[in-house]
Amino acid sequence: MNDTKPLLELHDVTKVYGGSPNPPEVLRGINLRLMPGESVAVVGPSGCGKSTLLNLVGALDRPTSGSITFEDQDLLGLDARELARFRNTSVGFIFQFHHLLPQCTALENVLIPALVNGSANDKRDRAQELLERVGLSERLHYRPGQLSGGERQRTAVVRALINQPNLLLADEPTGSLNEAAAQELVDLLLQLGRDENMTLLVVTHAMDVAGQMGRVLELHGGVLNPQEATS
Ligand code: ADP
Repeated sequence: MNDTKPLLELHDVTKVYGGSPNPPEVLRGINLRLMPGESVAVVGPSGCGKSTLLNLVGALDRPTSGSITFEDQDLLGLDARELARFRNTSVGFIFQFHHLLPQCTALENVLIPALVNGSANDKRDRAQELLERVGLSERLHYRPGQLSGGERQRTAVVRALINQPNLLLADEPTGSLNEAAAQELVDLLLQLGRDENMTLLVVTHAMDVAGQMGRVLELHGGVLNPQEATS
């Protein structure tokens, strides 16, 4: 019997953006359970609500209704300070564009999330090791403008991992990369996920990327298919 607890559960989650007279329901009852260490892709065409879903999971936004629990903790019950801590330490984010600070070196960029929680000094060795691991040992002191697209994105991955999150959220992580760099990034994400026992949730419209994850869910009409029974 497998008694491992889910890392994250969404139950009947809906999202309606206000502001227009008749706002559409972007998410219409999402049920999702992510287990520790698994990799899951969410696919669907542009505009179907993938980023909306990721923003809710990462507590960057709140659902209109439903519940979200992370390690048995009700995310929607956290106050602003607890949410900031959750985002800083439990979750790593990777986006289509790297969002590195242009005036900082690769090493400095990677340490920014650690600066936020006062652990930058302790994390320096980890930062260096991770950058070496992703093939950037010769680039620690380069600024983003001196790095290739793939190198910038790998730096962003290390930044996302610096605080040892249990969950890595990636929004079209290969969207700005050529085919070879995209494959390199997918290999890296899967390897790091395994090594760090980290759950990976990737939203993408690239089926070749999605197909390499452990599970593929399709977001269609505001629901995920196949549907999951969560309670
Ligand atoms: P995807 O990531 O699949 O491209 P999104 O989650 O970005 O889709 O968007 C889903 C739908 O929600 C779109 O119709 C989009 O216009 C709308 N939407 C996204 N963000 C907002 C917002 N902040 N305010 C109003 N509508 C939004």
